[in-house]
Amino acid sequence: MLRRFDIYVPEDLNDLLSYLDDHQTGVQLIANGSDLINRIHRRQVQARILVDISGLSEFNYIRSDNGTIRIGALTTIQDLISSPVLGQHYDVFRDVASKFGGPSIVNVATVGGNICAASSSEDLIPVLLVLSARVRLRSKKAERVIDLDDFLTNKRQTAMLPSEILVETMFDELDNQSSCAFEKIGMRNSLIIAFVNCSVCLRLSEEGKRIEEIKIAMNRVSGKIPNRARKTEAELRGKPLTKEQVEKAIATLKNELQLTSDFRVSKEYRENVGPVLFKRTLVKCSERLGEKLFV
Ligand SMILES: Cc1cc2nc3c(=O)[nH]c(=O)nc-3n(C[C@H](O)[C@H](O)[C@H](O)COP(=O)(O)OP(=O)(O)OC[C@H]3O[C@@H](n4cnc5c(N)ncnc54)[C@H](O)[C@@H]3O)c2cc1C
Repeated sequence: MLRRFDIYVPEDLNDLLSYLDDHQTGVQLIANGSDLINRIHRRQVQARILVDISGLSEFNYIRSDNGTIRIGALTTIQDLISSPVLGQHYDVFRDVASKFGGPSIVNVATVGGNICAASSSEDLIPVLLVLSARVRLRSKKAERVIDLDDFLTNKRQTAMLPSEILVETMFDELDNQSSCAFEKIGMRNSLIIAFVNCSVCLRLSEEGKRIEEIKIAMNRVSGKIPNRARKTEAELRGKPLTKEQVEKAIATLKNELQLTSDFRVSKEYRENVGPVLFKRTLVKCSERLGEKLFV
């Protein structure tokens, strides 16, 4: 049985921010509840008051703004894949949606909820990490923008203050020499929490043979929140995109991964599958740039 709690439904953003300013303990924001309700049910969240932000429609948008993509916190996974702003160049969001919790969840899961849930189950986080996303936080008194990397501090923990709300995430638009991809392995294709997931953002030189920039993120590189595989990135940056170079990077990745077992799957399984998933994601990225990578 769910515990009893009160719900506060703010009239608008100002009302919300004032409410959060006045009530800094015992309060939990709820967007569309697809993560939070389960956690309340399992008694992992102790809030007395839920503040329902799902009606703040001004936070549902995707904009291209002078080379920056801005995505409002209440944008859903379905919105990401139907947006004309995020065309073919952002097929990475279609990769995520195709393996994300089934249509009913795709329609309600919000970007803000995914980021703020801050766990290794959240599939958008690795993608946003390789896009070097930032998040905009607002409180009654201030607004700040911080790197997503710094926002995620630990499992289910973020740098957000009790008086703050995440209003949007943003990242620099990809240029034509860059592509991004996502892969995930779980028990089934969707309706499943990832055993391992991986996102890669790749920028090739104009002739397509050299890696100018690469970012790699997995739901567990070390610890239990998604993070970047920076040593493996360094192994590949500036190098030719060849089978031999990718094999070297995979050896580095195997050393870099500090995985653990849990009730879902063993450490050994993750260690074996992680590098394979990385290779698949890299191949997908290079194909999106018109390069065939035979690895
Ligand atoms: C059956 C099922 C399958 C699922 N499959 C997947 C999957 O494949 N991949 C995946 O990544 N996730 C999956 N999820 C988890 C969930 O759908 C996502 O995490 C979703 O993005 C959460 O969005 P929400 O709006 O429902 O967040 P909520 O549940 O409302 O909130 C999640 C957390 O974020 C906080 N929060 C929400 N919005 C804000 C904001 N704007 N500012 C500050 N804090 C905020 C809340 O306080 C809460 O702590 C699944 C869930 C279910 C029930």
